[in-house]
Amino acid sequence: MADMNKPECPSCLGTSVVRNGKVRGHQRYKCHFCQKNFVLEFEHRWPNESRLLNLLLLASGESRDEVAKGCRATPETVSRWLSDAKDQKDWFIEALANGVNYAVVEKSESLEDALEDTVKLYCLVTEDTSELGVSRIAQKLRELLELRRQSAKFDGSQ
Ligand SMILES: [Zn+2]
Repeated sequence: MADMNKPECPSCLGTSVVRNGKVRGHQRYKCHFCQKNFVLEFEHRWPNESRLLNLLLLASGESRDEVAKGCRATPETVSRWLSDAKDQKDWFIEALANGVNYAVVEKSESLEDALEDTVKLYCLVTEDTSELGVSRIAQKLRELLELRRQSAKFDGSQ
């Protein structure tokens, strides 16, 4: 059970976070480890994984309107998720990295296999199969996973 007074950093999953002012009435936090600011209330509505799942539905042939209806978002919101994915925005990378973590930890896949599958997922969702896009996403995932590994160590030494 997550302690709401001390939330996890959505980027690196570190728990060394401090309150850092408010944004439009929402509590903002700052992660000591990766230095990112985050606001929980915005993330709770459609968690990263749920946005990723909805993009997968879209990629598998459901219409944008059907997907939007299914998750109570507007079609415009679903389109924004897709363009975020194509731009390789942080939340999308984070959702993919969680998938890699899950495959490695829960299904005992090797990191390389899990990364390869996840990159395929990226290509499927974004329809980007360019060498540049693929190498960028792989690189970003490796960096984020490494950051999380270091953050786990950091939290453990507290
Ligand atoms: Zn962090």
